[in-house]
Amino acid sequence: MPSRPATAFAIMSRADQRGALIRRLVRPAVQAMQAYHVPPASGMVKLDAMENPYPWPGELRDAWLRSLADISANRYPDPTAGGVKERLRREAGVPEGTELLLGNGSDELIQLLGLALGGADRTVLAPGPGFVMYRLIAGFTGMGFHEVALREGDFSLDEGAMLAAIAQHQPALIYLAYPNNPTGNAFDDNAMRAVIEAAPGLVVVDEAYEPFCGRSWMAAVADYDHLLVMRTVSKMGLAGLRLGYLAGHPEWLEQFEKCRLPYNINALTQASAAFALDHADVLRRQTEALKAERGRLFEALENRSGLVVWPSDANFITFRTPVGRAGAVHASLREQGVLIKCLDGSHPMLGDCLRVTVGTPDENTRFLGALDTALASV
Ligand SMILES: *Cc1c(COP(=O)(O)O)cnc(C)c1O
Repeated sequence: MPSRPATAFAIMSRADQRGALIRRLVRPAVQAMQAYHVPPASGMVKLDAMENPYPWPGELRDAWLRSLADISANRYPDPTAGGVKERLRREAGVPEGTELLLGNGSDELIQLLGLALGGADRTVLAPGPGFVMYRLIAGFTGMGFHEVALREGDFSLDEGAMLAAIAQHQPALIYLAYPNNPTGNAFDDNAMRAVIEAAPGLVVVDEAYEPFCGRSWMAAVADYDHLLVMRTVSKMGLAGLRLGYLAGHPEWLEQFEKCRLPYNINALTQASAAFALDHADVLRRQTEALKAERGRLFEALENRSGLVVWPSDANFITFRTPVGRAGAVHASLREQGVLIKCLDGSHPMLGDCLRVTVGTPDENTRFLGALDTALASV
């Protein structure tokens, strides 16, 4: 046995020693965090994570697999991911004079921004209830986080409250998810513009659900040097690839690039995303089908008595069950093989709320049947 420095250490059990060392070394902000939990979903109708439920047509799948044969797995990938970038620029209508930064999912881009801007005197501001990663990542990149409540009732952006919080907290970074997760609505454009124009730092408009919304702030990136628009291929049908992108002024992105690890977009993702974007019409047709199903699902939920349903510009719908029943409804759905997201307890404004991702017609019908059973039994 190697000698131990402190005598007090020697009489501690091995587990106690390990615990003491963890408490001493791991940053307090990290110790205080909860890891992001992903529930098991094997064999379930999976409607909890805003995934596109449609596989590719067989022919397209075969062509994709053939395209992967050209990859040299022994070589590092293209460090700039130039081929993918070019296709994303075209697909998203990125304005001239604007650069793109790619991330391993937009989650990694949120982390990159935290690493570049982080510091104890730096605040991230976002409306809430909102996307949990903004707060989580602010926490472990050493930034303060301030949430401004959305309006009760319709979850609209409270312009007055946002402007007051901006004046008070002088945020280095503001996130506006457009449409917002988990409420599903795209905020009023005049309120958005007022926030963007009042911001003393950067504003990121997170357009993860743009394919289902149709409205976008991408063109405005050319008008405001401090405006960044973030998107991802996840919700449009490529969640497994992990690819997000941030559009903004080249001088800002040049700084963020320094915090990006080289080769963060792997060769399989680069080739697969390039292939998929060359066949984006297939994904667009799937998106249209999901938008139609969103309408049917919304109506069906509205027709069930006792539920409050919020209109959605995204590929999910958030609704409220009768008081105190969300947990039991969620559990009953799970027992019936349908996995959705329970929002109850995640935020004061989301009591009794559940969130369902729009699936295939068959999946949605199964969900609605299971929901009726759940509502009747709990
Ligand atoms: C899903 C989601 C993301 C994360 O996207 P990835 O590219 O899969 O990391 C970002 N923002 C919002 C609002 C989301 O709902």
